[in-house]
Amino acid sequence: MTKAVIAIHGGAGAIARARLSPETERQYIAALSTIVETGQHMLEAGESALDVVTEAVRLLEECPLFNAGIGAVFTRDETHELDACVMDGYSLRAGAVAGLSRVRNPVLAARLVMERSPHVLLVGEGAENFLFAEGVEAVEKDLFSTPARYQQLVEARAAGETTLDHGSAPLDERQKFGTVGAVALDKHGNLAAATSTGGMTNKLPGRVGDSPLPGAGCYANNANVAVSCTGTGEVFIRALAAYDIAALMEYGGFSLHEACEAVVMEKLPALGGEGGLIAVDREGNVALPFNSEGMYRAWGYAGDAPSVGIYRE
Ligand code: ASP
Repeated sequence: MTKAVIAIHGGAGAIARARLSPETERQYIAALSTIVETGQHMLEAGESALDVVTEAVRLLEECPLFNAGIGAVFTRDETHELDACVMDGYSLRAGAVAGLSRVRNPVLAARLVMERSPHVLLVGEGAENFLFAEGVEAVEKDLFSTPARYQQLVEARAAGETTLDHGSAPLDERQKFGTVGAVALDKHGNLAAATSTGGMTNKLPGRVGDSPLPGAGCYANNANVAVSCTGTGEVFIRALAAYDIAALMEYGGFSLHEACEAVVMEKLPALGGEGGLIAVDREGNVALPFNSEGMYRAWGYAGDAPSVGIYRE
């Protein structure tokens, strides 16, 4: 039987140790540990990789520390537009949503699109109407707002930053991509991936990043690997980052670690892409590479103690 494993991330970026207070650091570590442990227990109990990644990402969306669901960043117009994707490596089915503002858990919405619609990606009002018809409850648009995220918008505006201008700015919390994601391999050898995000602070309304795009910010295929990305979405889209990991393994004979090295350390930076990804291959190997200062991350095999990291250790 396969050794089941889960990895999660809470975003990559310029997470400078000096700027993260010990108290905040403890909160991140506690949240990541609790959520990865929940996933490990589910895997141990024989639950599917698809259910495990969906639940892990739902829990990350519920946690205001991360830029997904509650705690999502603000757009230029002081609104929230949430994107998510889920992909099942067994069937190669995928479901995704973009530009949601009235649905509490975008990852559950993505799952509904996959399971209850003939489509892969639904956006905006059309997506919400489909979800409400499926029985999803509408929430107030300010449910996702937190004072910390509003402050980030104010600072981003003052600095004149746009969504595309993240490259060489000073290191601080504003420069963190707080997207969340999960990848898992279950006992039955099935892989799955899920990604969810509020996008980037001060983004133009209507902007969609890599997170809800299968192949860009999320990909799973039982033949090789499950991947969830975080970083400068525009570059991850152009690089088809998640699928590129799978393609290098499938067509190039790369190992998981070689594929991660090529994409995260060479191909993305060459296009100005900053960030990282988490990946699990069909053998249960785990990789959590990033080319930024840090990446909130945790992983663990079913039955083992979890590991948690933030900085480049
Ligand atoms: N990749 C996300 C996006 O571009 C941002 C992030 O990873 O935090 O929307």
